[in-house]
Amino acid sequence: MIIVPNSIENEEELKDILNGSSSSFRNIRLYDRSVFVVEGAPPEVPANMGYVLRGGLSSREFKKNNTRVKVGNVEIGGSSLVIAAGPCAVESRDQLITIAQEVRRRGANMLRGGAFKPRTSPYSFQGLGFQGLKYLKEASDITGMPVVSEILDPADYTGFADTVDMLQIGSRNSQNFALLKFAGSQEKPVLLKNGMGNSLGEWLGSAEYILSGGNQNVVLCYRGIRSFETATRFTMDSGTIVSAGIVSHLPVCADPSHPAGRRDLVEPLALAAVAAGATMLEVEVHNDPDHALSDAEQQITLEQFDRLAKNVRSLHELINSRVPATF
Ligand code: PEP
Ligand code: MN
Repeated sequence: MIIVPNSIENEEELKDILNGSSSSFRNIRLYDRSVFVVEGAPPEVPANMGYVLRGGLSSREFKKNNTRVKVGNVEIGGSSLVIAAGPCAVESRDQLITIAQEVRRRGANMLRGGAFKPRTSPYSFQGLGFQGLKYLKEASDITGMPVVSEILDPADYTGFADTVDMLQIGSRNSQNFALLKFAGSQEKPVLLKNGMGNSLGEWLGSAEYILSGGNQNVVLCYRGIRSFETATRFTMDSGTIVSAGIVSHLPVCADPSHPAGRRDLVEPLALAAVAAGATMLEVEVHNDPDHALSDAEQQITLEQFDRLAKNVRSLHELINSRVPATF
């Protein structure tokens, strides 16, 4: 549980109370506030000293205003829509640099690309690994766009530390608690996908692992869930995007590519996500999608991205200009 002291003086007294109890605790700073992360049976907290946070660190009970996450020169959760675009997987230096330059020119402000790929079959292309991360860094240096890339194993982090600006935790690892705790121990921003079989509450529980480790730079990325519906690869529920933005102060991103599973559905789903309140999109784009080494059916062409970027940005302007919701 989380205990929030009422004042700096109470912080010391609370520390004494916790030290005298049987529970283990740590004191972290999050968004300029001091909180105690307590594991095990909590002690009684005198009401004048602080309070027990019921909703969690990702909730608006803890922080009312929207959180903004800085990733290099980009701010996620602010007034402008962030579009991270790039291939599903980094396949070669040429492929990546071509795509990075093209998406930049057409309106992307971040680069995505998988170097370590979580594939269903061990015989499928697994990504270029550390070499892929180096290509991402080079593409970032050339285009000026910060990079997001998926990490599968904390043991690989040394390769990510100086190449990647934001760690992606993918759907399959959304409840990999060792990986979440590791991400919480770093300062690098994290793009946290929802597990395809998880509820919003479970997804926010995953965010809590990162936040309670002291890493406040978390962005939620909705990528749809598994359902009985076969018309799309995964079911993208815009209600979950809206709800995430209501209950949580964290920025909400959406990935329209994986739920679409088909090129022609990506732009409509991206528009739906922006209408539902997403302030960031992560989109798979390829210069030759038919020959892509992973997710060939859903990666959109450069021309399709051109149109998508224009349309989602004009919709976002419209959304921004409406009367704001009060939560
Ligand atoms: C990805 O974005 O590369 C990816 C594998 O997505 P997800 O984890 O959402 O399936
Ligand atoms: Mn993919």
